[in-house]
Amino acid sequence: MINEHSLRAARAIDGERLWRRHAEMAKIGATQGGGSNRQALSPEDAAGRALLLGWARARGYAVSIDPIGNLFVRRPGTRADAAPVLSGSHLDTQPLGGRFDGVYGVLAALEVMEALDDSGIALPRPVELVVWTNEEGSRFAPVTMGSAAFAGALPLESVLATKDAAGLSVADALAETAVRCPVEGSRSFRFPVHAYLEAHIEQGPVLEAERKTIGVVSGIQGLRWYNVEVTGETAHAGTTPRARRKDALRAAIAMVTALEALTDDVADAIRFTVGRVEVRPNSPNTVPDRVLFTIDLRHTDAAVLDAITSRIDPICQQHRGPCAVRVTETINSKPTAFDRRIVGLVRAAAESLELSHRDIVSGATHDAKYMAPLYPSGMIFVPCERGVSHSEIENATPEDLAAGARVLAACIAELALE
Ligand SMILES: [Zn+2]
Repeated sequence: MINEHSLRAARAIDGERLWRRHAEMAKIGATQGGGSNRQALSPEDAAGRALLLGWARARGYAVSIDPIGNLFVRRPGTRADAAPVLSGSHLDTQPLGGRFDGVYGVLAALEVMEALDDSGIALPRPVELVVWTNEEGSRFAPVTMGSAAFAGALPLESVLATKDAAGLSVADALAETAVRCPVEGSRSFRFPVHAYLEAHIEQGPVLEAERKTIGVVSGIQGLRWYNVEVTGETAHAGTTPRARRKDALRAAIAMVTALEALTDDVADAIRFTVGRVEVRPNSPNTVPDRVLFTIDLRHTDAAVLDAITSRIDPICQQHRGPCAVRVTETINSKPTAFDRRIVGLVRAAAESLELSHRDIVSGATHDAKYMAPLYPSGMIFVPCERGVSHSEIENATPEDLAAGARVLAACIAELALE
């Protein structure tokens, strides 16, 4: 049950203000195709941060920054020493990114804080907005850099030394950002937090297809990456009989076909992708002697992932023919299950606000993945047009964005009363 106080906070959400701010943020780094280009710690990213902090300071909120540039905006509670309820996402985008991925979670959290102020609701716990640094990972690898460093999953020294394609380090880019967007307060990593909530566009087609407004996110699927290297022998395409060939591509195709069959589940829940194939010498009239292909495998259930991945090497060996094959795991990211109480709270808030909803597992990764082991965490999804994301044409409706912010407001108000 959501109490009346929290529903009042939800009703105070100003959907028009939230929409206007998306439009204003999108002007920074605007692209020809109607999207945004604010790559992590670029001048555009700094301008986006400065725009946000302008809105925050106008409300008198305190702002602070941690050693990897994660930004915090604090609305005080009546119990000053209480751990805050934390909510946010990221402002950085892909080079040809959209106007909503990440931005929505940041602006929705700010909208909640302002709605609480506008309706005169005092809460025991502080409410804090967080802007995670470099979620996208397109300028500096890896993705979700800021939240991973905050959580201690990546060592700060190595993150600061990471360079972009132009040879500029994260440390240099942070220093530039600090000049363009100065922040007075400083924060440490892993400070006490009561609960973490992140609102985000779905980045997939499910909610829109089922005409649901709210995605109650139960977790994030696990991810495994592999490199498969097949080695044969080059030969003349016109003179070499089949029996004498060691055709690495032929073997690779047999492997991929068998792996496709292995992962072809009735429920269509296994995500299996061979996204890169390198063929050597890549010549029309030469039998290839080396093929490298990648596997991206995702599922919600660790046991299913284990069962499939235990079969990858045997299947590749079985189909190698006269070639040699080597399978190497390059990423092993376990599935994330969000806190059951928080998931239940999101569902109850959608229910109380009479918004259509369904439980959903996130196909994409998010900063919330690194918060889940530290704090009770959850996510709220809203639909995006045709499920398109990481694209200039990414789109969402003002009504859905406002609805998601109302659910966020109800959950934050509820948690901040505890
Ligand atoms: Zn995102």
